[in-house]
Amino acid sequence: MSDSDATLRIRVAGGSIGGLSAGVALHRAGFDVHVHERNPGPMETRGAGIVVQGELLQLLRNAGAPPLPTTSCRVRRYLDPAGGDGRVQRAPRAFTSWEAIYTTLRAALPVDRYHMGSVLSGFEQSPDGASISATIEGQGRVAADVLVCADGAQSENRRRLLPDVASNYAGDVAWRGTLDEVDAPADLVAYFDDAFTYSEARSGGHILVYLIPGEGAVPSPANVG
Ligand SMILES: Cc1cc2nc3c(=O)[nH]c(=O)nc-3n(C[C@H](O)[C@H](O)[C@H](O)COP(=O)(O)OP(=O)(O)OC[C@H]3O[C@@H](n4cnc5c(N)ncnc54)[C@H](O)[C@@H]3O)c2cc1C
Repeated sequence: MSDSDATLRIRVAGGSIGGLSAGVALHRAGFDVHVHERNPGPMETRGAGIVVQGELLQLLRNAGAPPLPTTSCRVRRYLDPAGGDGRVQRAPRAFTSWEAIYTTLRAALPVDRYHMGSVLSGFEQSPDGASISATIEGQGRVAADVLVCADGAQSENRRRLLPDVASNYAGDVAWRGTLDEVDAPADLVAYFDDAFTYSEARSGGHILVYLIPGEGAVPSPANVG
């Protein structure tokens, strides 16, 4: 990175996991970065569990973020479709949730760098390609050197940049659900605790079960990466 790069003005559209990860890494690298999130807040949690990857822990460590709330298990269990425990093998993993990742990443980015209710509604590149003029609703045009589009799977900015690219339905449907531990029978909790459990579903798909940290969970060290 040259001295002139250090002053790069960067705007990130989208303040979920992708946008925040980019924002945290770029801020840590010394760039002048702002993350714009369309949602006026509070952000709704999306999805259920997320398996913790080493790269995420590295990013959080480098940024001096608070510990990520996680759960962990020591084994992977493949239930026998005919009934019974099936195969169990040693496979330590850590799990977290969208909310835990979001909250931890937010804590690693200064508040004045994250803008809620802030929509990036358009952008133009200068004729020489050296800078960008981004339109932020309510704020007008802002000049930037780099624009990061992290506005999700249905990204409007990707449509602007790559109008011919369309998403194709792959034929898979995923159902996700969570059950609060206090509402589950104790023997069920004990059975699924400390394991990443796989099962073939009668429909032909498969089912995964694991414990994740709940709202306001106390952080615990993740034993991966
Ligand atoms: C219902 C649901 C369940 C999921 N469950 C799981 C799961 O269990 N495990 C898993 O690993 N993944 C799951 N996912 C995948 C999920 O998409 C990722 O975990 C993660 O949220 C993706 O992050 P992202 O930042 O790429 O995109 P998103 O989370 O989609 O974030 C994009 C953000 O950009 C903002 N935005 C959009 N346009 C603009 C704009 N013009 N200006 C400013 N901001 C804008 C949006 O408000 C949004 O917050 C699930 C997704 C959904 C929708």
